Amino acid sequence: MHCKICLQSIEKDTTWSTLFDFRERTLCLSCDEQLEKIREPTCKKCMKRTEEKLCSDCMFWEQHLGEDPLDRNISIYTYNEYMKEMMSRFKYRGDYEIVYAWKDSFQQAFHAHFSKGIHLLPIPLAESRIFDRGFNQAEALARLLDQPLFAGMIRTGQEKQSKRTKWERLSAKNPFELIETPPENVIIIDDLFTTGSTVRFAAQLLKKAGAKCVSSLTLVRS
Ligand SMILES: [Zn+2]
Ligand SMILES: [Zn+2]
Repeated sequence: MHCKICLQSIEKDTTWSTLFDFRERTLCLSCDEQLEKIREPTCKKCMKRTEEKLCSDCMFWEQHLGEDPLDRNISIYTYNEYMKEMMSRFKYRGDYEIVYAWKDSFQQAFHAHFSKGIHLLPIPLAESRIFDRGFNQAEALARLLDQPLFAGMIRTGQEKQSKRTKWERLSAKNPFELIETPPENVIIIDDLFTTGSTVRFAAQLLKKAGAKCVSSLTLVRS
């Protein structure tokens, strides 16, 4: 068994305390230690680190969207330097295998917060992006969970939002389009939750089309 990040053998750092779980582990101890899980206190809605009940991002959306279409976001890791490096290997250098490094924690988070059988919606990627990268990173994460996928949403607008302010994001055209009626409960899957605008655009369409409960499970909260 080899670590999915550094490719070192995992057996070699097996000690008495880890002996019984090494067969299921996908990361060596030193790589695992560098991934930083989100700790309390966090926003009750989106898991951003804050002492407040609701973070400034969530307050912004609530004020400006009227009713926030997103019921809740669950994230697992912080966006530390190590995670940034992993993400760039995963997304920009097309290292698909890295996704298995997050498998255990992604599955655990899913089972701790959601029930089986709920449809997952990986955030759609533009066709041209899939062509460049070879895969959709959100779909790669969703496939770790072994739950039904909802594939009735497509991306018609552009992806790059990182340089926009919240106001620009708010007034931007919804980059997604629904091509099928969504199920009642949907969990949106994505790699990174920053201000939550992407996930909320998707949630807005789902709710308008009749979905009752829309949450998201994202690997990283930046
Ligand atoms: Zn390692
Ligand atoms: Zn929040």
